[in-house]
Amino acid sequence: MIIDLMTLFPEMCESVLSMSIIGRARKSGAIEIKCHQIRDYTYDKHNRVDDEPYGGGNGMVMMAEPIAACFEAICENRKARPRFIYMSPKGTLLNQKKAIQISEYSNIAILCGHYEGVDERLIEEFIDEQISIGDYVLTGGELPALVLIDVVSRMMDGVLSNKECFEDESHYNGLLEYPQYTRPQIWRGKSVPDVLISGHHANIQKWKLEQSIEQTKKFREDLLK
Ligand code: SAM
Repeated sequence: MIIDLMTLFPEMCESVLSMSIIGRARKSGAIEIKCHQIRDYTYDKHNRVDDEPYGGGNGMVMMAEPIAACFEAICENRKARPRFIYMSPKGTLLNQKKAIQISEYSNIAILCGHYEGVDERLIEEFIDEQISIGDYVLTGGELPALVLIDVVSRMMDGVLSNKECFEDESHYNGLLEYPQYTRPQIWRGKSVPDVLISGHHANIQKWKLEQSIEQTKKFREDLLK
């Protein structure tokens, strides 16, 4: 998958995207991510990316043209039009199902808003879909975009060691994951469940499924419906 990230803070995004599993996946070529500075596409000598809202109101609004020019340069460079996603508190709530849908695109471009958001005309003309990471408002779209990139990237071939790594986890099949344990076998007097050290594969699988259902009942009963 190719991801073009459009932001006023590429250094902030790069610092996260160059580390750990995603950083390694970029190095190995399993995913390609490029951060673009929207300010590079301004057309005035002060490199302005925002202006006051028409009709008054708090804060500033990101202007349409630098974003449009940045996206058009990406399309030109990729010789394709990526699916264009705007991170926005008004968008569809991100969940695993939405992430699976997004992971099926070979090219996506993600726009991070800032200030009061972006000129509505840009959204009408260019944006294919808006995605929210929750019913709250953050100062910018960078953290939401990083969340989206992380959840989508880990489902790409070659990012995790195998498909079970993400298919077995909470939410993928509608349930929460069973509890996990590691060494030592007894920690502060508490032992790990006997079945996990029994070596009996079928019993372990049965226990994991039962525990998954238990955890879902306990923490997210709404998922069982
Ligand atoms: N004025 C906007 C509103 O009330 O809907 C909020 C703008 S917010 C301060 C600035 C930017 O942060 C947005 O343009 C968006 O890109 C990003 N953002 C904030 N909260 C978000 C959320 N829950 N999900 C995705 N993006 C969000």
